[in-house]
Amino acid sequence: MTKSYKIGVIKGDGIGPEIIDEAIKVLDAVSVAQGCNLKYTEMLLGGVAIDETGVPLPDETIQGVGKCDAVLFGAIGGPKWDNLERHLRPETGLLGLRKEMGTFANLRPATVYDELINASTLKPGVIEGVDIMVVRELTGGIYFGEPRELLEDRAYNTMVYTREEVERIARVAFDIAMIRQKRICSVDKANVLEVSQFWREIVEEVAKDYPEVELSHMYVDNAAMQLIRDPKQFDVILTGNIFGDILSDAASMLSGSIGLLPSASTGEGVGLFEPIHGSAPDIAGQGIANPLATISSASMMLRYALGETKSADKIDAAIKKALKEGYRTGDISDYDAKEVVTCSEMGDIIAGYASK
Ligand code: NAD
Repeated sequence: MTKSYKIGVIKGDGIGPEIIDEAIKVLDAVSVAQGCNLKYTEMLLGGVAIDETGVPLPDETIQGVGKCDAVLFGAIGGPKWDNLERHLRPETGLLGLRKEMGTFANLRPATVYDELINASTLKPGVIEGVDIMVVRELTGGIYFGEPRELLEDRAYNTMVYTREEVERIARVAFDIAMIRQKRICSVDKANVLEVSQFWREIVEEVAKDYPEVELSHMYVDNAAMQLIRDPKQFDVILTGNIFGDILSDAASMLSGSIGLLPSASTGEGVGLFEPIHGSAPDIAGQGIANPLATISSASMMLRYALGETKSADKIDAAIKKALKEGYRTGDISDYDAKEVVTCSEMGDIIAGYASK
């Protein structure tokens, strides 16, 4: 029986429409080949939503995402909307959407493609074969804790985690570890912070339900150092909001180019899948954007939201093959390029390989 899924599509601004079109091209190719049916519903967010409706996050978008199985998102923002009041800015729309969707888990893979090993600032021997998944708690911790205040002679924020918040993010990490190398490093600051001691205790409790997964703990300062010193030691990194914010950016640079890296924000409801980069207004409309981060995000959507593992594997293999064959978009053309291709040509190549 053909399986059918409803996919929300938010193209957004700048290069958003170009990269999303390529991801859909690839999704269509692979879903036809694997016998599943994807139905897309386009929704507005960001600058384009401001232009069309007056607000960055229209009600129709909030209602629309709730009816989907997953949402694929490009990027928002650009100089045209930079001078608007804060509540009307494109970025406010994205933060509002994430909040509405209740996405508490941010998954950011940091994968190093052998073919682009020279694109990283680290030595090839250090990064060859790196394949890390950072699982960051996204809606708790010090960014959201109360009380918080900015006074004239002092300011404070509160780092707080509840049992439920730690338990649910830990379960996400353990579930992911089960389909990877079954190793989790939980990163905290338990030598100084009570909230981290609490975090550690709960992660240990959750671990009892996953006897096959090897759990270790690391202090965040050491983890930052270890990520640069020997990133291959990590499989899944589980961490809180502020530590994850910093570590996931550090990990993303292992691979060398922002145009390659996908992300997923998942929670109790519908997941949001998007590249880590922004709307790149400097190259928008020129057909030179790298669509691989968005195509990888589409692969994460198939794997983590729809359970279409085989299709996701096909896309990941197609990306590797295209890079191995020497196809490069402009941003990575300095690294062993045999042919420099446009955004759309890269989409064609990946779609072709993924449908085989
Ligand atoms: P950016 O990530 O858009 O661009 C940084 C640099 O990387 C630019 O030189 C750009 O050309 C390049 N780049 C980014 N993606 C690329 C791709 N796929 N292929 C080739 N090159 C790529 O960051 P920025 O310039 O700081 O921000 C531009 C706009 O994007 C701003 O309005 C910002 O608020 C917004 N932004 C949106 C998101 C999002 O939608 N999730 C995230 C970050 C920034």
